[in-house]
Amino acid sequence: MREVILIKNGELALKGLNRSTFEDILIKNIKKSLQHIGEFTYTKSQSTIMMEPADGEIDLDDAVDAVSRVFGIAAFSRAAVCEKNMDAVKATALEYLDEALSTAKTFKVEAKRSDKKFPLKSPQIQQELGGFLLSRYPRLKVDVHQPELTVTVEIRDNYAFVRGNNIKGAGGMPVSTNGRAAVLISGGIDSPVAAYMMAKRGVELVAVHFASPPFTTELAEQKVMTLLHKVARYSGPITTYVVPFTDLQTAIRDCCPEEYFTVIMRRYMMRISERLARYQHCHALITGESVGQVASQTIYALGCTDAVAELPVFRPCIGLDKAEIISISRKIDTFETSIQPYEDCCTVFTPKHPKTRAKLDEVAAAEAALVNADELMEQAVKNARKTVIK
Ligand code: ATP
Ligand code: MG
Repeated sequence: MREVILIKNGELALKGLNRSTFEDILIKNIKKSLQHIGEFTYTKSQSTIMMEPADGEIDLDDAVDAVSRVFGIAAFSRAAVCEKNMDAVKATALEYLDEALSTAKTFKVEAKRSDKKFPLKSPQIQQELGGFLLSRYPRLKVDVHQPELTVTVEIRDNYAFVRGNNIKGAGGMPVSTNGRAAVLISGGIDSPVAAYMMAKRGVELVAVHFASPPFTTELAEQKVMTLLHKVARYSGPITTYVVPFTDLQTAIRDCCPEEYFTVIMRRYMMRISERLARYQHCHALITGESVGQVASQTIYALGCTDAVAELPVFRPCIGLDKAEIISISRKIDTFETSIQPYEDCCTVFTPKHPKTRAKLDEVAAAEAALVNADELMEQAVKNARKTVIK
């Protein structure tokens, strides 16, 4: 049986872009996400994108799984293609939807006829196929309002489609329809969620991770790469910088008052990330901060961190409770990786009594003690290692 994946225009998040540009970007993103599965042909017609495997070896389950993570699609479906006559439609529905028809308690048939020359009108197609299926599955009941299973028949110009229920898509907007931003990624729970949330809004991701060997280990860095790989299943490939942060961090520890240590460190993270972000043509920074979560994320500390960034800083987790962030991290399968216990550079030299009501002028004064900061930042940027995580 010929089986395809259908994505309907009505199910695309079309805002601010013309349809054709939007569809082209979406198809490009779908192609990228299916690269490891195989070749597909793409046909745009009658307000539908039809994807068909180029050879019989391709497992459509894998393709459906990948498509369900592509942003910009609210819902899609898999469908059987058959000849456009009622005998073929009935036989296809029986064979293709047998499992769904055997397990559902209620159903309805919906017919759409774009070929107006087809001898039956939509209500007649519904009646004929509905009656036929009821005779074959006597336990089934018709429910036109809230059926468990909707069998849809579409009569097109050259063939008919038969399909069962829609599959939920990832929602959001296609990645790269809303520019690029650099996410400051740690090994924690929040920043991978923040990255996912911004990618969902169509933002292409670049990532920056600060590592402080020997205080942080190779395993901690591997963990971050695993997290990025999981996010990349949604966002597409992520150009990633690992920035050596040890020298700057130890200099801050040696020169600056301990109570300001974390805020100062976060300000340098922002400055370095911004440099790399501009280099990568990004228009914003992203962090996983949530107001009040820890001392460095009080409204005062956030103000001090924000003050050094010229690019807008997106903090999509800002108003979420930890439990809400965790629920997203479970959904995108980053949680189990995030909770592996490796030291992050943020937890190295944590002050005993961090200033929770840090004032900008005091932080700036405390920071001024770091005389060779520019040189250390320069080194960190220069020695950042770049990889692309897929
Ligand atoms: P997360 O769960 O994302 O690690 P967190 O609650 O542990 O967040 P912090 O450790 O204070 O909070 O970090 C706040 C934000 O700073 C993170 O969400 C992330 O965006 C950024 N950040 C922290 N550590 C690093 C790091 N090593 N490299 C890059 N960014 C980092
Ligand atoms: Mg952290």
